[in-house]
Amino acid sequence: MHDADDAESAEIRAHLIGEVVRLTPALMAANLVSGTVVGALVVPFAWQAYLVWMGVLCTVVGLGWRAWWLSRRRQPRTASRRAIARSTRHAAALGALWSVPAVLWFPVAAPGVQTMLATLVAGMLSAGAFALSPLPRASTAYVGLLASGSMLGLMFAYGPASVPFVLLCAAYGGICLLGALTGSRKTNALLRSERDAERQRQIVTVLLRDFEEQASEALWETDAEGRLCHASARLGELMGAPAAGLQGLTLAEMIERRCPGGGALVQARLATGLPFRDLALQFLAEDRTLWWQLSGKPSDAGGWRGVVIDVSAKVLAEQRLRQLAHFDSLTGLANRVTLHEALRHHLAEGTRGALLSIDLDHFKTVNDTLGHSADDALLVAAAERLRRCVRPGDVVARLGGDEFAVLLCAAPGPEAVLPVAERMVAEFTQPCAVGERKIPVGLSIGIALLPEHGRDVDDVLGNADLALYESKEGGRGRATLYAPHLGERSRRRAAIEQGLREAVARGEFMLHWQPRVDLDGWRMTGAEALLRWQHPVLGRVGPAEFITVAEQTGTIAEIGAWVLREACRVAATTLPGLTVSVNVSALQLRQGDFVAGVRDALDLSGLPAARLEIELTESIFIDDANDAMAVLRRQQQLGVRIALDDFGTGYSSLAYLRRFPFDTLKIDRAFVRELTSRQDTQAIVAAMTQLATSLGMRVVAEGVERVDELDLVARLGCHEVQGYLVSVPRTETEFGRLRGGWDAGARPHAPALH
Ligand code: C2E
Ligand code: CA
Ligand code: CA
Repeated sequence: MHDADDAESAEIRAHLIGEVVRLTPALMAANLVSGTVVGALVVPFAWQAYLVWMGVLCTVVGLGWRAWWLSRRRQPRTASRRAIARSTRHAAALGALWSVPAVLWFPVAAPGVQTMLATLVAGMLSAGAFALSPLPRASTAYVGLLASGSMLGLMFAYGPASVPFVLLCAAYGGICLLGALTGSRKTNALLRSERDAERQRQIVTVLLRDFEEQASEALWETDAEGRLCHASARLGELMGAPAAGLQGLTLAEMIERRCPGGGALVQARLATGLPFRDLALQFLAEDRTLWWQLSGKPSDAGGWRGVVIDVSAKVLAEQRLRQLAHFDSLTGLANRVTLHEALRHHLAEGTRGALLSIDLDHFKTVNDTLGHSADDALLVAAAERLRRCVRPGDVVARLGGDEFAVLLCAAPGPEAVLPVAERMVAEFTQPCAVGERKIPVGLSIGIALLPEHGRDVDDVLGNADLALYESKEGGRGRATLYAPHLGERSRRRAAIEQGLREAVARGEFMLHWQPRVDLDGWRMTGAEALLRWQHPVLGRVGPAEFITVAEQTGTIAEIGAWVLREACRVAATTLPGLTVSVNVSALQLRQGDFVAGVRDALDLSGLPAARLEIELTESIFIDDANDAMAVLRRQQQLGVRIALDDFGTGYSSLAYLRRFPFDTLKIDRAFVRELTSRQDTQAIVAAMTQLATSLGMRVVAEGVERVDELDLVARLGCHEVQGYLVSVPRTETEFGRLRGGWDAGARPHAPALH
């Protein structure tokens, strides 16, 4: 026990030795007194031997005292293994010494003297065992030697007749030893748990200190007259004044100084005499808007006590998230969500207007020949041109890629809309300047009039798309008004819709796999299954296009079930040790038998539930959050992991993270792309990562394409990455090859700067 060389064992050894040493004066005194009593009994027949014995006993006792004396002033914090051996030797010496009266003098003493010697030796045996119990080796040596001596003495005295007493003596010795060892085990456990508690206390202290250092809150207290008392330095800091200067002000005066107009609000709350929570205060300080929350309640002393919290960082982060949720981060235009909301609102009001569906012509060629940064610059320039063509109150949105849409909110009919569309087309006849280059771009537009060209959002968007398709077919660079003869739906969409019905049965689907890599050790931990479809006529169609159609037409259920089964099968057969992620659409989740479907896929493949992770987006919470939660809970009970996908787009809210115990948070590429250029995005990602980590989630950064992005997400605390930098999604065979040649030491690093 505690033979290890580590610091903790050394400390525990010192503690145990200390326990025994503390009893030393009493124990040594008992030895001397008992030794003297032995003298009174045995001197008449063995005085010479007694003198020698007593001499040795006094020496051993003296050594014991010396040890106590030396350690009395400075309790050593650590003790070596040698110190334990020394204590054991000392105990053994005492045990051996006390067996001398039993072996030498007990057999030859008169019966009355024998009784007294037996009592004395028995007393020394139990007292010694008890006192030495913290040191199991010492107590074993002491009890072992003394009990053996006693047994020998009994045998010498009574020959074969002594056997029952010898056995009894052995039993007593055994019990003493057992008691001592049990005591020592308990002491040990206690010491270990005391140490754990101390460690925890230290961690809590560190966390608290950290909290206080970063704390954005300060306590305040007023006396019965309503004047501030005990103003802390922290309060002073928040108020932008030395703490001493606050003393004597009323709470309202203090707030008014920092937040003009806030004093009256506070005064009104205090006047009610009732506790209040989170009174919001907003004000400008040094060109920044700050947000505070003030809470307070009457104190026992007749004054008030409360807390003021600076929630500015949180408010800003939430505003930024909301901004990202509703606006396209590249162009600053509204995004799809905002457009849908505005359109829905407009349709509900029944006022006239128009929806323009817009595509940049030949954008793909620009993208392919000039690369990403040119393509981003072009999109920004295009957004600016579109904005110039509309009036305040109209909504210009980027829906993704080179797809834009404009909602003209006040357009009485085609005669008002067509000129706007033509102006847009005309704007784009001029090439766009991107850096040094001038890039020619064109515009195709499809127009749906409101309310006659559609009753709901999907109808209107679909019809505007049909008109757009017509524009493109007709040679691009033009605007087309929707007309019912276009209404059989575009050929492509119809082909997709039709094709999806048969695709599973015809085996046109396959899964590609994209690795997920742990930043700590650069190990491959998982793979995301991404669906690929080879249409017999259209060729390869991307999931971003066909998943929406599958959702709208209901084929997603069948397709989703196939994906789950196939992903589980591949995971169980060719991806040993990896967690597989499967994307699940919100609609799929809402189907009654979803959980059963997952269970079947697991059973069929034999894949352990813990190796399956389903990826969901926040859209699951939109219609019926409680229902979705219930399905997720059942899912988690199966042992399947659940990831929140695309976090930072769409409907992002940190609240979802707290509401459901996701296992993984996937930070969307939209954030990752902005990280290297925007400080505020870094702050948001760091905050999200911290929150998710504290809630026990793994944080995965998606779409990492560059080394600098990799380094940043690692620094901000993400645990894993996924993206083209590691690998594009690959077929099963190619994935196997990647994994076979995987080198955990080959994490890409930015070239050193010279
Ligand atoms: P997602 O779940 O966000 O999947 C990641 C997408 O980002 C994939 O596109 C992937 O190829 C792409 N990607 C990965 N790394 C990078 C990178 O470094 N840079 C860039 N720019 N992109 C990267 P993919 O395969 O086209 O899938 C698009 C979306 O389609 C997926 O987005 C997912 O929402 C959906 N999807 C794919 N397969 C399925 C499926 O089996 N079921 C359902 N319901 N949805 C699926
Ligand atoms: Ca995903
Ligand atoms: Ca994603």
